[in-house]
Amino acid sequence: MQHTIMIVEDEEAIALMLRYNLEKEGYKVVVEGRGNHVIAEIEKHCPSVILLDWMLPELSGVEICRLVRSKPDIKSIPIIMLTAKGEEEDKIKGLNAGADDYVTKPFSIPELMARVKTQLRHSPEPIAEKELLFEDIRMDLIEKKVFRGETFIHLGPTEFRLLKMLMENPGKVFSREYLLKNVWGDNIYVESRTVDVHIRRLRRSLNNYGPDYIRTVRATGYSIDITE
Ligand code: CA
Repeated sequence: MQHTIMIVEDEEAIALMLRYNLEKEGYKVVVEGRGNHVIAEIEKHCPSVILLDWMLPELSGVEICRLVRSKPDIKSIPIIMLTAKGEEEDKIKGLNAGADDYVTKPFSIPELMARVKTQLRHSPEPIAEKELLFEDIRMDLIEKKVFRGETFIHLGPTEFRLLKMLMENPGKVFSREYLLKNVWGDNIYVESRTVDVHIRRLRRSLNNYGPDYIRTVRATGYSIDITE
């Protein structure tokens, strides 16, 4: 499976350059520019390596590093600190906070790539995404459960698969034919009206606990989206 590398960097030019080079190496890349959402994003994407900038708005790299190391489910993810600070003292501070490696800006791309590879050797095998989120709707893909806020929503297996398809691509409009093929499968004969029936059930289950995010697009199909 493809490794995910997470870049936590507020300087867009550097984040772009890193993304470009990492994608060229075949990695999946996730970029986060601010400190406050980082932990939730790490838990969501379960990256194989984190490239973590030292100076960030909100939480600093060192604080993020400490937080990651304090959370059992993500604490073993390797962290490479990126920093403009070359001082020996800062390096020690970074490593003490739990970073596995330390690279000083400006760094050479081949060197950084080599360091990423070294960390990947220590990284656990990537696992598939654990959950999907859309506003207050959360789908736990491991437990196969859906929640709105804290409320557990009971869904039938077909409604679950339908919602999963919509939540994997928010905003994208799926035709009934596409949904039939991908939710029910190629070899099963069902009418396209069946999709409407299951969408109705899905709405009924979800909408008791919050706004209706399932959008009917006339003559086209369905999507999950925020309609003002
Ligand atoms: Ca920065």
